[in-house]
Amino acid sequence: MIDPEIVAAHRQAVGADPALDRCPIMGTYAPPTVMFVSGAGSWLVAADGRRYLDLLSGLAVTSLGHAHPEVAEAVSRQAHRLLHVSNLYATEHAPVVAAHLDRLLGGGGQVFFANSGAESVECALKLARRWGPAPAGRFRVVSAMGSFHGRTLATLTATGQPAKHEPFQPLPEGFSHVAYDDIEALDAAVTPDVAAVLLEAVQGEGGVQPASVEYLQAARRICDERGALLMIDEVQTGLGRCGDWFAHQHAGIRPDVVTMAKALGNGVPIGACWATSTAAAAFSPGDHATTYGGQPLATAAARAVLEIMEREDVPKRAQVAGDRFTAGLLGAPGVRSVRGRGLLLAVELDVPSSAVAADLLAHGVIVNAVTPSAIRLAPSLLITEDEIDAGVSAVIESVQRVAQSS
Ligand SMILES: *Cc1c(COP(=O)(O)O)cnc(C)c1O
Repeated sequence: MIDPEIVAAHRQAVGADPALDRCPIMGTYAPPTVMFVSGAGSWLVAADGRRYLDLLSGLAVTSLGHAHPEVAEAVSRQAHRLLHVSNLYATEHAPVVAAHLDRLLGGGGQVFFANSGAESVECALKLARRWGPAPAGRFRVVSAMGSFHGRTLATLTATGQPAKHEPFQPLPEGFSHVAYDDIEALDAAVTPDVAAVLLEAVQGEGGVQPASVEYLQAARRICDERGALLMIDEVQTGLGRCGDWFAHQHAGIRPDVVTMAKALGNGVPIGACWATSTAAAAFSPGDHATTYGGQPLATAAARAVLEIMEREDVPKRAQVAGDRFTAGLLGAPGVRSVRGRGLLLAVELDVPSSAVAADLLAHGVIVNAVTPSAIRLAPSLLITEDEIDAGVSAVIESVQRVAQSS
């Protein structure tokens, strides 16, 4: 939680509109302190005209930066051409996007289009239930403590954070959680009633925690031995962010199911659940559906995003930029360590991360407090060297300011 006093001071500093407090939006989010009206690349512009360096990309969503001209053009062209028909009919871009994603995942799979990360994971969970009953009455899904898989009832249940579960009991049945990155715990948990293991290759919301290569490889082996599906949730880590097209590829494994969303539309809502053709065959027509899934506007955006990502070689850019951030921050006063992969980084600090995040916001830089002691950086994969260096200096200065004022 951000200290309400810091929030109040910041609201005053930026001249936030008090009317924002009274708008009829449900109170599921902390009161906003800034209203953004436009952006370009790594920069956002607030209603008061102030510019902010965005090192978060709306939580790893705008991986190509704000208002990317080619994405904007693709969306605008499509809006003038065709916005929607039902999934009873084919449209132009969905098959192209599906084929592109399948190629990035090594081929031999199929895609279900959804509208968000949670819905992509929901598709995976339903696929696990359909996969399960055939051989042996399997239904259980094993996921990791500290994981995050979404906020619908089923994806919340898969999420390994008991505090988030408590207000919503009773939750759906058939989920268990094991310690993350612990091979023995996983080995013991995959009993004959387990249909699938669901893991993040790097836990994002859980504090930017990369799994070891050995763990992911052991997960693959354990699932193979017991006939369970290995499902990797790449909603935050996928599409170049972690230095590979998908973060699990770092471990050289091939999952049965991969979910993705955040970066796929560069801000236009779209999610996808990819599964090997063998796993996908568990679904029959009528088993799963969504009105907007794969519709022309979202897939026009995704098609442009994937073309640009490939042309710009974003996985490589994420590696190089991530190394530059890490080199700049490591050893600076107040910085204990930097972890993560590519451009999904957590900076472990000597001072409270929420104070640094609030101080940075007041100084025109956007990050978030991913744990009480670490801030998360997930900037545009097209961030420039100058922007990285400005971000590094801003973080170091902020840590010093917060240390001095406490
Ligand atoms: C953000 C996230 C989700 C949920 O995505 P929404 O679009 O918010 O539903 C699921 N899994 C992971 C790993 C995420 O980071």
